[in-house]
Amino acid sequence: MWVTRYNAALKGHIAAWWKLGYSIGFVPTMGALHEGHLSLIAAAKAECDKVVCSIFVNPTQFNDPGDLERYPRPVNRDIAMLAGAECDLLYLPDKEQIYPPGKAVAAVPDPGPIVTVMEGAHRPGHFDGVMMVVRRLLELVRPDALFMGQKDYQQVAVIRFLIKYTEMPVRLVSCPTLRASDGLALSSRNQLLTPVWREKAPSIYKILMETQEAFSAGNPRELEERALQRLTAEGFETDYFLIVEGYTLQPWTSDRDVDLVVACVAVRAGFVRLIDNLILRHP
Ligand code: AMP
Repeated sequence: MWVTRYNAALKGHIAAWWKLGYSIGFVPTMGALHEGHLSLIAAAKAECDKVVCSIFVNPTQFNDPGDLERYPRPVNRDIAMLAGAECDLLYLPDKEQIYPPGKAVAAVPDPGPIVTVMEGAHRPGHFDGVMMVVRRLLELVRPDALFMGQKDYQQVAVIRFLIKYTEMPVRLVSCPTLRASDGLALSSRNQLLTPVWREKAPSIYKILMETQEAFSAGNPRELEERALQRLTAEGFETDYFLIVEGYTLQPWTSDRDVDLVVACVAVRAGFVRLIDNLILRHP
């Protein structure tokens, strides 16, 4: 696996692969890798000739400085994991490569109502930062396909919008959420959980599953309320638990005949913020 911190070297490798006619899959991450990230690498390897992964803890998407500071950065372990997963190139830029001093960052478009709810409502500026970094990374890597996790459901929707808006010729592939054996969605932030919170955390998925079981019978607002009560009883501070239309991300009402409905949740487990989601109705 090639590892580079520099844009020039990154572009050199990619230009050489293009010349050989290889297709390129790209997996952007913030590091502290786990099996969920590796499943994206595996999906990219299955579909593309060469796989590029980036690790960059993007400051512009953190609205909480404490969260940015605490974010784990086990770089050597990450490099070993990616090499083991047969990733072809790891791009490991510092801030100057992504946001060169003096170079204007392209303005980010406004995706409208999909960013005024859920993460967008609770983390002001977060999706502007996500769009800023993904746009820059896509311009640098120019992949054929971009692999992202459904774990960050709203992020996938925002990047789908960004790609459409900018007319970048890249295919977006949304990959299923990998979970620990007790159901907790794998996340880099899980390692920050205290043992007590780690033990409680699988109940997030349990409550999503209970909502799925009750879905056909229940009124969505009542199901949300029940889930909120369950989360509170477990000790979580809940930012939101919402049943939304899968495309618009607006609250779903039972009179709306849409083929994609998703339950999305964000809670605080001590000082660690966790998000998860479950598709309740598939197309
Ligand atoms: P992050 O490093 O948290 O920015 O995540 C990088 C990519 O990995 C994003 O596209 C995430 O949605 C994806 N990802 C994170 N956790 C999981 C998981 N448990 N299963 C599958 N993909 C994931």
